Amino acid sequence: MPDVVVVGAGYAGLCAARRLRAAGLDVVVLEATDRVGGRTLTARLAGGWAVDLGGQWIAPAHTRFAALARAYDAATFTGHTQGDNLLLSKTSSRRFSGELPPLPPHATAVLAMALWKLDRLTRRTLTTTQAERLDSTTVATWLRRRLPVPQARRLAEAVLGAELSVDVASVSMLALITAIRGAGGLRAGTEAETASALFTDGADGPARSIAAELGDAVRLGTPVTSIHDTGTDVHVADVRAARAIVTLPPPLAGRIHYTPPLPAPRDQLTQRMAMGAALKTFAVYDTPFWRADGLSGLALDLEGPMTFDASRPNGPGLLCTLANGPAAHHLTRLTPAERKATIIRSLVRGYGPRAAHPVDWHEKNWTDAPYSRGGYNAYFPPGVLTSVGSALRAPVGRIHWAGSETATQWVGYIEGAIRSGERAADEVIEAEARFQDPVIPD
Ligand SMILES: Cc1cc2nc3c(=O)[nH]c(=O)nc-3n(C[C@H](O)[C@H](O)[C@H](O)COP(=O)(O)OP(=O)(O)OC[C@H]3O[C@@H](n4cnc5c(N)ncnc54)[C@H](O)[C@@H]3O)c2cc1C
Repeated sequence: MPDVVVVGAGYAGLCAARRLRAAGLDVVVLEATDRVGGRTLTARLAGGWAVDLGGQWIAPAHTRFAALARAYDAATFTGHTQGDNLLLSKTSSRRFSGELPPLPPHATAVLAMALWKLDRLTRRTLTTTQAERLDSTTVATWLRRRLPVPQARRLAEAVLGAELSVDVASVSMLALITAIRGAGGLRAGTEAETASALFTDGADGPARSIAAELGDAVRLGTPVTSIHDTGTDVHVADVRAARAIVTLPPPLAGRIHYTPPLPAPRDQLTQRMAMGAALKTFAVYDTPFWRADGLSGLALDLEGPMTFDASRPNGPGLLCTLANGPAAHHLTRLTPAERKATIIRSLVRGYGPRAAHPVDWHEKNWTDAPYSRGGYNAYFPPGVLTSVGSALRAPVGRIHWAGSETATQWVGYIEGAIRSGERAADEVIEAEARFQDPVIPD
């Protein structure tokens, strides 16, 4: 009988298993799909070039992910960011330099004030009353109150919506503050984003290397539908183990049937958290032709997807388009051909007629993925954190919880997934060590 069964072979599950194995425990990983990596997924172009259809960026502060990259020789490169960025609308395209498009002076001042207030909130120790007030407020409501100038508000809604991968009217303000704190604060989080790098051979590379090391312990094509905790062991699919670590995002973990039933707060939590929506596409060109026009490849569309230059050094030109929340829902309702045509029209608006003829096209709609059902991550609607949020990480009997959503640092990032898996593994190692301690009579 293995010591631990891990459910899910994304970064959280694989890193939990790696840690457990290093501690001498016997582990089995059950994965529903036919691959590892979960919400990271690398496709290959002609010539073997990688494109990341899921998570892809790593920031300097992502130290655990960087350690894996070193351990498994996964090279990274800094993405191309030189040149002007674009602000797109349904009919026009405007160049700008710097991180955010220029706003009228009054709007800039109002935005700076709102960012200062947000920064202060993330640094302050909150009283219970303040936390409850923030948890009963959506990010949209907070922005409406602090940003009375529509241009500044629209920009903040678009940028935060893209970060959270969901309409800002759906997310608790307390959840946003918690996430910013977990990224080291507003300034550190923003710096980390702007200084981020990509994996030359794809972000799922280290995950595949860990799986290769774990060998037969990783069982693909094994969806877990029920977990039975007998009090002395757990039964998961056909595996019996001393303990289980479930690494699925909470809304998917809630689809598993548990006996005995989970305590009410944990079940309520999985009922009330929901997945964001993300749809990612890659238009492939022979060369990154936009660079010759002095363009960075970054385009911000306040109504639609964001676009980035994701080209590998000396590789073909890659324009990566990321649609989140309402933009992803809109594109999902179209046929694949309509979706491609809509995105290409927006690329042509920004980058001219050469953008009309990509040599290759890749897309991944994460809301359609049966074992992810959305992305980037699950989010907290108002009222969830302060009522049942304490059930997010608390083990239930012999079941432990991991996954990016459960991270205390870099929640929602691959870094958070790795740290959460290692934290859950440590919980199990400690619990098992306690059981193995010889009982010495007084
Ligand atoms: C489009 C997109 C872009 C992103 N961009 C970035 C980025 O640039 N940088 C970054 O750091 N993060 C990014 N993220 C977020 C990051 O990818 C995730 O937070 C992270 O990969 C989650 O890892 P995890 O192990 O917690 O969960 P997952 O990767 O979701 O792993 C869970 C695993 O469980 C499996 N599973 C589900 N149900 C069952 C079941 N019943 N039985 C067995 N197995 C099951 C799934 O198939 C999956 O393999 C992005 C995500 C998306 C979708």
